[in-house]
Amino acid sequence: MSAPIPPQARSKQLRACLLCSIVQHPMDFRREGCPNCEEIMQMKGTPDRIAVCTTTYFDGIIAVIDPENSWVARWQRTSKYVRGMYAVRVKGRIPEDVEAELENRGIKYRPRDQTDQD
Ligand SMILES: [Zn+2]
Repeated sequence: MSAPIPPQARSKQLRACLLCSIVQHPMDFRREGCPNCEEIMQMKGTPDRIAVCTTTYFDGIIAVIDPENSWVARWQRTSKYVRGMYAVRVKGRIPEDVEAELENRGIKYRPRDQTDQD
């Protein structure tokens, strides 16, 4: 995917998706969008969108090698999150239009800063 970037350079700029909490470099969001929820978030090539759909306010990063089924999977063709780095807790809320889109699809949004578990 992207060329290796020194860890020091990455860590300060990493952003977490507000919907699935995957952690990526902003450049990855810009090039590929969110690997889990791009269909709804539509961040690819849109820095303004990335700014509202992702955040730098997150706690803890876990590497997910074999992700479990998740509520996000409901609209994904694949049944699982992609492998990658995920934030344990993400602060913030998805934009209203995204929440409305989820509602249209019969999906109830679950903010990632709550304590409920997948
Ligand atoms: Zn996402």
